Amino acid sequence: AEAHNDAVAGARALNAFTVETPEVALQAAEAADAALARGEAKPLAGIPLGIKDLFCTEGVESTAGSNILKGFTPPYESTVSAKLKADGAGMLGKLNMDEFAMGSSNETSAWGKVTNPWRGKGNEALVPGGSSGGSSAAVAARLCAGATGTDTGGSIRQPAAFTGITGIKPTYGRCSRWGVVAFASSLDQAGPMARDVRDCAILLKSMCGFDPKDSTSLDLPVPDFEAALTGDLKGKTVGIPKEYTIDGIPAEIDALWQRGADMLRDAGAELVEVSLPHTKYALPTYYIIAPAEASSNLARYDGVRYGLREAPEGGNLIDMYEATRSAGFGDEVKRRIMIGTYVLSAGYYDAYYLKAQKVRTLIQRDFDEAWKRCDLLLAPTAPSAAFAMGDKVDDPIAMYLNDVFCVPASLAGLPAMSVPAGLSDDGLPLGLQLIGKALDEEGVLNAGYALE
Ligand code: GLN
Repeated sequence: AEAHNDAVAGARALNAFTVETPEVALQAAEAADAALARGEAKPLAGIPLGIKDLFCTEGVESTAGSNILKGFTPPYESTVSAKLKADGAGMLGKLNMDEFAMGSSNETSAWGKVTNPWRGKGNEALVPGGSSGGSSAAVAARLCAGATGTDTGGSIRQPAAFTGITGIKPTYGRCSRWGVVAFASSLDQAGPMARDVRDCAILLKSMCGFDPKDSTSLDLPVPDFEAALTGDLKGKTVGIPKEYTIDGIPAEIDALWQRGADMLRDAGAELVEVSLPHTKYALPTYYIIAPAEASSNLARYDGVRYGLREAPEGGNLIDMYEATRSAGFGDEVKRRIMIGTYVLSAGYYDAYYLKAQKVRTLIQRDFDEAWKRCDLLLAPTAPSAAFAMGDKVDDPIAMYLNDVFCVPASLAGLPAMSVPAGLSDDGLPLGLQLIGKALDEEGVLNAGYALE
């Protein structure tokens, strides 16, 4: 009993969950047993999953990691979590995350920081990546079999890489955004995070599919992703984007990338160098478009419709807005709202937002050109292993730079996956990223499978 209590305390110390719902998971397991007894087997019968707190879950507090939504219990279920439940999965709880999915370290949550189950060389606490840091920590620590994540500019892939797990962001439009708290709607995409590629393939199949409630949802059949896992890459060409070789990238990341290329070659792929010339503009473009959309999406938190309301004595409506938003949003969210409002404002719209939209098109065209020469791209997921807690928290630019390899695929809406590919010199997990053509999740998953 003592060992059990220690294990539970250790697990809780990661702070991966915001709300625990073991009774919901148990119910699903019992329902799965009963269905099995009747000879009905659902694809995820009784599988315990964690759900990122960005997904609205009926009757269970859903806060997007923010004080402004504390106490918000949605009367509806997000399409993605509803699909997982319909396939038999049980929800163990809601997973911690950076506030409104803004961050790369899970240090901005109103529920407190999440700790990576891996420790640094000097036993220092490390970040689990972000914004899906509760998801990555929980899966890595084996607290759940899999989890949902969302990826706007890397939030599935980078935390997966930092914790030694696998995560895939499908093509924009594959998973419905309905019931997922909006951050940057033209980029937001849900996806699974799990121990390996096969588990991701199985979860992805349940999560995606057409949803008339999301106007950007793709009305296409859902492939049997698991069937694509042969590990055979004969006839495939994998591109190595030369612009991803950036200054100051640690030698261990370069070596990992090289090893990954060798493994794909061994699996039958041909490797070619390709060029994505606008890569260097991806990060600044992302950090204009994402905050612009966020500032607009977050306007709805006004103290009237959801969650927190701060109404100063004798104040008017504007006073209530100000007090609510001042108290409810954290610093990073306020920073994004200010940047976003600025780049959308009358005098600066053309210089920043419109320009960023044009560059986004150029970045998309870079990929279109690359696909004339290859089927997939291989790159590192992040420029470093998990960093120490507190390391970048006061330096937003350093934090944003960690997303450098993830944002291009997001801006182009392409499927991209991180697979654990080795250990750093300090013994920490490192991830490699596979980026595919739109709708080629099968190709991405199969190449990832060959890398495992
Ligand atoms: N780290 C990036 C950001 O802070 C990406 C976040 C995400 O994908 N949700 O915006």
